Amino acid sequence: MDRNHTDGESAKRTDETAVALLLRSTHLEVGQIMELMDIGDREFREMACRNQTIARRLEERRLGTLRELKSEPRACKACGEWFLPYGSDRYCSDGCKRTAQLSTCRRRAS
Ligand SMILES: [Zn+2]
Repeated sequence: MDRNHTDGESAKRTDETAVALLLRSTHLEVGQIMELMDIGDREFREMACRNQTIARRLEERRLGTLRELKSEPRACKACGEWFLPYGSDRYCSDGCKRTAQLSTCRRRAS
C-alpha cells in the first residue's frame, strides 16, 4: 500500500515549494492556487502547518502586508515547475531552456 511513499513525499515537497511561490503573487487567490495545484482544504491546511514559508505567506495575506512582485510566478515550459521569471523568461533554469531548445526541431531560414 505504501510502496510509493518516498516518491509521494518528494512530490509533496515540490508542491509546497510551488504553493509557497504562488502565495507570493498578489494576483492569485488562495482558492485559485489550490485549484492550480489540485489540492484540497485539508491538504492545504496540513501544508501550512508543516511549512513555515507557507504559514508566513498566509499570515502576510491576512495582514495585507504581502508585497507586490516585479514578476508573476510562471510554470516552466520545459519541466512545469513554478518559478519567478526575470522579464519574459519562459524556463525556470538554463538547463530547461537548453532542453527545450534541443528538443525543438527548428527549420532554419536560409
Ligand atoms: Zn524548468
